[in-house]
Amino acid sequence: MTIPLKTLQGKREQLKAGLAQINDLRRGSLTARFRKCGKQNCHCAQKDSAGHGPSYSLTHAHQGKTLTQVIPQGPAVDRTRAQIAEYRRFRKLVQELIAVNEQICDAQLQQPEALVAEESKKKPLRRSIGHRRGSGD
Ligand SMILES: [Zn+2]
Repeated sequence: MTIPLKTLQGKREQLKAGLAQINDLRRGSLTARFRKCGKQNCHCAQKDSAGHGPSYSLTHAHQGKTLTQVIPQGPAVDRTRAQIAEYRRFRKLVQELIAVNEQICDAQLQQPEALVAEESKKKPLRRSIGHRRGSGD
């Protein structure tokens, strides 16, 4: 039932590698708006007309306020869409990274010797241990 520590650590490395691949990102959502200009002789006055547009804006809640930013027509619209999607991907990766780290922490609680082995692999402890020994005697 429990996932081996090595498997979890492998998954963590995968997620970290995924995070390194993250491109431009931004929060918010893109909304397309159509408007009617009100001129009776304009095509938008016809019943089946959606109106002028679409014009795009990016909205996002920040400290209780909704911020709205106009996104110019053209490639910026697709770029913004991709940036928003990238933010969602980033969030998902971060949440998975937190989850797998917590699983690793739990697994380390159950096998403290693995934790010790892992830490001695990462940090060059020899020098400080030698120093401690020298001053302790
Ligand atoms: Zn019009």
